[in-house]
Amino acid sequence: MAGSAVQEKRIGAEALKAVVREIFRAAGSNARECGLVADHLVEANLKGHDSHGVGMIPAYAASLAAGDLVLNATPRIVQDIGGTMVLDGGLGLGQSTAHDAMALGIERVRETGSAIVALRNSHHIGRIGHWAEQCAREGLVSIHFVNVISEPVVAPFGGKLPRLVTNPISIGIPRLKAEPVIVDFATSKLAHGKIRVAYNKGVQVPDGTLIDADGHPTNDPAAMFEAPTGAILPFGEHKGWTLAFACEALAGALTGGLAMKGPSSRKAIINNMLSIILSPDAMGTQASYLSELEEFVRWAQLPSSGEAPSVLLPGDPERAMKTQRLAEGIPVDGNTWAQILASGVSMGVSEATLEALAI
Ligand code: NAD
Repeated sequence: MAGSAVQEKRIGAEALKAVVREIFRAAGSNARECGLVADHLVEANLKGHDSHGVGMIPAYAASLAAGDLVLNATPRIVQDIGGTMVLDGGLGLGQSTAHDAMALGIERVRETGSAIVALRNSHHIGRIGHWAEQCAREGLVSIHFVNVISEPVVAPFGGKLPRLVTNPISIGIPRLKAEPVIVDFATSKLAHGKIRVAYNKGVQVPDGTLIDADGHPTNDPAAMFEAPTGAILPFGEHKGWTLAFACEALAGALTGGLAMKGPSSRKAIINNMLSIILSPDAMGTQASYLSELEEFVRWAQLPSSGEAPSVLLPGDPERAMKTQRLAEGIPVDGNTWAQILASGVSMGVSEATLEALAI
């Protein structure tokens, strides 16, 4: 049985950011880190990815308690040759280490025309599209492969046992006088956090998402949270598995981080990311890139005669959700809010303080 639904709260984005800042301030983050983690988590909620929003705070609190999350860490440069940089995140808060890694990469693109940034050994870096957006704001195209070192929860295509995690990929594509296209997805059928959200809400997951401990299909998210646990399937059958494999190779092995090779010794979620950041200017194609892209968008979205436009671009659903949630507030289910309060207490803030901020 999935967990039962309890009453949902609606919290404004600024109030929710204040909650996150207060929790991390009490835990020991400096003001800059509090701002980065609050902006990132609440932006994930605003964009509809509650799996990577404030609901991650309990997991971060557990990592902190276990010594698997280091506050106020700066990525250490391990290797720096031409356009290639290898950085060690030192188990730092990913919202800060990945921000710093992208800033270094963007600076390098200005000097050399392109950059490859390998960030290894970082604590959870959240919604990967956030990093593509950071590059796109500078007019840069970026490609991000990420692997996850944690308890294995995803079965390879053809397998029944969990062997890897939800390895995400993101691609940021700036446009001419329009918001960037942001491709951003887990290579599993559903992000693990979305199964947690379904479990907390007491709802079922779609067909083809999960197998139980015996390898049989199930829709009950409890299959991932109550023993004996099953596994999440890759999206798109063999195709999702091939991309998940590429993440292990590029983000795990090639960065010098870790690839999955057995049960993780840590409970924490560790991410490794390989980012490729490109300047259309340096390629000499800035003008044609932008105009070709707009032509393609026009063509792709052209409806059949008499029909209303129906084709969205990657990134559109998140922007629409953000507009709605800025107006209506962010829904936080009762179980998740109770977990956030408990984590806040464990990190040094009273429930009363957090309740007062969340109005
Ligand atoms: P998802 O299945 O919701 O897919 C999102 C992508 O599909 C976005 O690019 C979105 O714009 C696009 N999209 C959705 N509907 C569309 C439509 N109708 N037309 C065009 N494009 C459309 O995402 P997900 O797999 O659930 O991943 C959720 C988040 O979890 C992502 O931000 C991902 O980075 C994050 N994640 C992080 C980790 C980690 O370890 N840090 C691991 C897994 C996932």
